[in-house]
Amino acid sequence: MKIAVIGIGYVGLVQSVGLAELGNDVVGIDIDKEKIKKLKLGICPIYEPGLEEILKRNLKAGRLVFSNNFAENIFSAKVIFIAVGTPEGEDGRADLTYVKSAAEMIAKSLAKNNSKNQEIKVIVNKSTVPIGTGDVVAKIISQFYKGNFSIVSNPEFLREGQAVKDFFGPDRIVLGNGNDEAKKIMAELYAPLNAPILFTNLVTAELIKYASNSFLACEISYINALSRVAEKVGADITEVAEGMKLDKRIGKQAFLNAGLGYGGSCFPKDIKAMIKIGEDFKAPIEILEAAEKTNQDQRRFFYHKIEKAFENNLKNKKIAVWGLAFKPQTDDLREAPALDVIKLLLKAGAKVTAYDPVAEKNAKKFFPKIGYAKKSTEALKGADGLIVMTEWDEFKECDFIKMKKLMKTPLIVDGRNIWPATKPRGAGFRYFSVGR
Ligand code: NAD
Repeated sequence: MKIAVIGIGYVGLVQSVGLAELGNDVVGIDIDKEKIKKLKLGICPIYEPGLEEILKRNLKAGRLVFSNNFAENIFSAKVIFIAVGTPEGEDGRADLTYVKSAAEMIAKSLAKNNSKNQEIKVIVNKSTVPIGTGDVVAKIISQFYKGNFSIVSNPEFLREGQAVKDFFGPDRIVLGNGNDEAKKIMAELYAPLNAPILFTNLVTAELIKYASNSFLACEISYINALSRVAEKVGADITEVAEGMKLDKRIGKQAFLNAGLGYGGSCFPKDIKAMIKIGEDFKAPIEILEAAEKTNQDQRRFFYHKIEKAFENNLKNKKIAVWGLAFKPQTDDLREAPALDVIKLLLKAGAKVTAYDPVAEKNAKKFFPKIGYAKKSTEALKGADGLIVMTEWDEFKECDFIKMKKLMKTPLIVDGRNIWPATKPRGAGFRYFSVGR
């Protein structure tokens, strides 16, 4: 099938590469010239395990091309995906500027080739958008383009760091709206993935996305709120979560890892957008406001834990930081808890040396002046303490004896509970974690 994907970020790139791998002819279009230049050379602009290899393979096979040009590439596509960003607007609502401009660019390009377009165009919204945005897009398209088209909402559920795996093995595919022909085309496109497809109306599909992310964010905030109780009563939050997960109604995969709270490009903005949707439709969802506040508080809580561990004297302390990205296996720093915590450390006069296996380049945009180590152990040399911000596997397998020799003071404040407390303590560290 001939496919165009508009907006080649985390979502659009994975979608383009994945659909090409399934044998479709895909053109990925973005307004960012530098990004397209890199992609044409087979250079992946983001860190995502396994992605660059598939990208190169499909470029070579000629099934995948990238371009900045809408007009030349849109008219031959049967399915056009919109995968542009929907960042948080000033009031917490999703900012639809990019979606609207992408819709207009699609519409104008289709209109230029009106005579050639007898076949249906399926215009699919993959971006996370507020309720009713599908109708907004339809209106923009029909302003310029008089041919046959159908709008489908197909929210994206991929997880950064596991995006390739999620593309080829999704838990579900949600398809909202679309006439019968569009539904048939979409079902055919996704058939090789063998995933359950849920057909819904437009608003249901749009709501499923926000509902899912807000629910997951609530789980994280719930366990973090509980972690504060656990600390007061002397319980171990990891064991509390374990005990909860054994209940099949809660489940082994539940998002119940106490730590620094959620970050990233989705949960923080999606929960805020969901709160606004509730307000806009006069059906406020107070539980989400509490979850959002708990998440903000959790970063400050953690910072106070650091202050306490350093007896309120961080000035000129040499602090090693392990992990910068908002979660492992990604270089994405958007809304990463590490950003807030490092800002507070610097404000208190600490000297920070950070190590992250892949996020250093992005971190330099936020903190050009802190130290960066090429290895986790290098960051520890002469350090007064180590702070763990991201749960990379390589940190879990560390050698505490070696670490102790490198550090000036054997002190660890672990924001992700990556070790059983007995391990670092057994090696002679003062060890502080979350909720235990
Ligand atoms: P991103 O910021 O990584 O990428 C967006 C891309 O769109 C950029 O490359 C930008 O240059 C491009 N763009 C903007 N306006 C354009 C236009 N008019 N025409 C062509 N390109 C344009 O965003 P992302 O993280 O891929 O997210 C995209 C959408 O998917 C968002 O709505 C997000 O909420 C949603 N989503 C993201 C994830 C995730 O993990 N990142 C997961 C699920 C859903």
